[in-house]
Parts: sequence; C-alpha cells; structure tokens
Amino acid sequence: MFPAEFDYYRAETVAEALDLLGKHPEAEIIAGGHSLLPTMKLGLANPPALVDISGIDALHGIAIDDDGVRIGALTRYATIADDADLGHACPAVTAAAGAIGDVQVRNRGTIGGNLAHADPASDLPAAALASDATLVLEGPDGERTVPADDFFLMIFTTAKEEGELLTRIDLPKLGPDDVGVYVKKESPSSGYAVVGVAAVLELEGDVVTAARVAANGAFDHAMRLPGTEEALVDESLDAGVIETAAAAAMDGIDEAALMGDHHVSADYRARLLQAYTERALTRAAERADASVAAD
Ligand SMILES: Cc1cc2nc3c(=O)[nH]c(=O)nc-3n(C[C@H](O)[C@H](O)[C@H](O)COP(=O)(O)OP(=O)(O)OC[C@H]3O[C@@H](n4cnc5c(N)ncnc54)[C@H](O)[C@@H]3O)c2cc1C
Repeated sequence: MFPAEFDYYRAETVAEALDLLGKHPEAEIIAGGHSLLPTMKLGLANPPALVDISGIDALHGIAIDDDGVRIGALTRYATIADDADLGHACPAVTAAAGAIGDVQVRNRGTIGGNLAHADPASDLPAAALASDATLVLEGPDGERTVPADDFFLMIFTTAKEEGELLTRIDLPKLGPDDVGVYVKKESPSSGYAVVGVAAVLELEGDVVTAARVAANGAFDHAMRLPGTEEALVDESLDAGVIETAAAAAMDGIDEAALMGDHHVSADYRARLLQAYTERALTRAAERADASVAAD
C-alpha cells in the first residue's frame, strides 16, 4: 500500500521545525515514522506535508546529573534500553523501552514519538506516569512543561497543542533504595501491550513510603491506579499486601473505562490488569530484596 502524495520538509533545528510547522499548519511531524507511516499507508492519515525532525541533533541523547534525567525526544528505544546509568536512575522507563516491539522498531522508534502519539497500547506512557515524568514542549509562544499526569487525555490525544514540538522528557532519579519495574502482556503479533503495568516505589527498608503505579493497554489512555497506590503506602511489600494492592487496581476507576477489542474483552482485560499489577509489584519486591541483600 502506498500513502497519498505529500510534501516533505527536513528541519535541522527546533527553530526550523517550528517555522515549518507555522508555515504548514496541516503538516505532521515525523520522527521514527513507526506509527505515522503505517497509518499513512493504511490511508488512515493523509497529511499534505511532513516535517522530518529526525535530523535535529539537539533532540537526541540522555543526560543524567544531580538535578535528574533529561531524555531528548528523538532518543531511540534501543539507546534508552541499553543505557545502564539510566537503568539505575529510571528503571521503569528502560524496562518499558526494552519491551517495545522487535529489534527493528526499537532501533527506529523514539520516546517523543511514542508519548506524542499516545496509542493506548504503547508501553512508554505508563512508565512515564509511574516515573513522574515532565514533558517539555516548544511552540510558537516558547517553552512550557506538562506533567505526565496531565499529558495523556484520551486515545491518540494529548495536551500537546497544534504547532508544538515535544522536545524533552525530564525525570527525577530514583533513590538508592527505590525500585522501578515494567511488565506487560504483549500482543503475540505486534508486541504492543494488551495490558502493561509500570510501578515506581519509594522504600524505607521494606516499607513503601510512596507509590506510583500506572497501566497502559487497559484503558483508552495510560492511567495511574490510585487504589493500588493507596493500598501500598505505609505497608511492607509482602505477598499479602501485593495481592490486596493488585486486587484494588480498578478502585476509583469507572469500569466503563476498560477497553474491549479484537484482542480481549473488557472483562478479561480487568483480570489481566490485576494479574499484571501483581506481577509488577512482585518483581518490585524481588528487586527491593536484591538491593537490600547487596548492601
Ligand atoms: C511492527 C510494530 C510494532 C510495534 N510495537 C510496539 C510496542 O510493542 N510497543 C509500543 O509502545 N509501540 C510499538 N510500536 C509503535 C512504535 O513504538 C512507534 O515508534 C511509536 O508509537 C511512535 O514513535 P515514532 O518515533 O516512530 O513516531 P512517528 O511515527 O514518527 O510519529 C507518531 C506521531 O507522533 C508525532 N510526533 C512524533 N514525534 C513528535 C515530537 N517530538 N513532538 C510532537 N509530535 C511528535 C507525529 O506527528 C505522529 O503524529 C510498534 C510499531 C510497529 C510498526
């Protein structure tokens, strides 16, 4: 299948990209192209023009210092998954990036494209929510920041406005005793998440002092699981607490929000959500035990 004809513009800087987007308001940004091009080939999107941002060097790369972590929007999944320092600082993000698709997708897809596209079955949105990410956007009126909690609005819809470019993802670093994980039930054909759960837990000994747990695949956009988070705080991370916290995954969330599709029904997704929340928390407890043993 071939996409409809389109004009092609290549930006070398953020300023150039913003200028091109201003001149061609109907244009779509293309980064890794691994969601946009299939959509165009299927005829589901027919943008008259593309602004290719993949050559903007300033948007590639990972920086980690005392202030936290900054990941350029064009950083590819393989780079993220393979970065050992990032794996210590933001383990839920590296785990989610490493769980995406196959090796070809991981070598081309970008963190910015993944978050901006906001496919409910994408892996990185839940990791961004659990990791307390902040998204940095640049537009005609300058730069603004949006917490991940306010970014994902509904299916394929985010707080990004027309003419804006997602340039960077800022993240806090985990403390030495904290843990972060991501697990998913993947589609056997594409690798997309049927349900994926990310958890970042702050710990003092084995007691959870703060919890951020989020899911993608289950709802029309990635969401935090407030019932699970509440059930964890001030508790020891043992098997009983994990079971109770996983059973609370849907607490505070309208059941109508659960997706049912050709992969699985909404009812089965609810069961997967509970099972994969339990799996994520069990893995977090194993990591916590391992880091205590290593001290
Ligand atoms: C076979 C296959 C399997 C896949 N499996 C998975 C999977 O298991 N898990 C998963 O999460 N994903 C999966 N994907 C999707 C893949 O991760 C895409 O790369 C991702 O969804 C989009 O990132 P991209 O860089 O390719 O963006 P593009 O396709 O280039 O763009 C996607 C959308 O985001 C916009 N956009 C891109 N970058 C920016 C930016 N910096 N600022 C503003 N807007 C921007 C574009 O305009 C477009 O609307 C799969 C894709 C394929 C083809």
